[in-house]
Amino acid sequence: MSNDCIFCKIINGDFGTEFVYENEHCVVFKDINPKAPVHLLVVPRVHVESLNELEDKNLMGELLMAVKETTKKIGLKSYRVHINTGKEAGQEVFHLHIHILGK
Ligand code: 5GP
Ligand code: ZN
Repeated sequence: MSNDCIFCKIINGDFGTEFVYENEHCVVFKDINPKAPVHLLVVPRVHVESLNELEDKNLMGELLMAVKETTKKIGLKSYRVHINTGKEAGQEVFHLHIHILGK
C-alpha cells in the first residue's frame, strides 16, 4: 500500500467504493469519469506503479482472468481492454490498472 495513492485508498475501503468484482488478487470498480457506457477498472491489490515496474508475471494473468470473470458476471460479451503506461500515454493514476470499455 502506498499512502498517497488513490487506488490503494479505494482498495482499503476508505471511500466505501462498491466493487463490481473482487478476489484475492484484485478489485474491480466503476471509473469515476466513464468514457464508455460500461467503464470499469481492474486494479491489483498490490501497489505497482505501472507496467514498467511489473515484476510478477503471474499478476497479469490473474488480472486478465478477473476481466473475464467480471464481464461474465455482468453479461458483457464485447469489450475492449487497455492499459495506459506513462504520463505521455495518458496514465493519470500511478497504480497499475486495466480499463474495461464496453457498451
Ligand atoms: P489512467 O488515465 O491512469 O489510465 O486511468 C485512471 C482512471 O481512473 C481515469 O479513467 C479516471 O477517471 C479514474 N479515476 C481517477 N480517480 C478515481 C477515483 O477516485 N475513483 C474512481 N472510481 N475512478 C477514478
Ligand atoms: Zn496504489
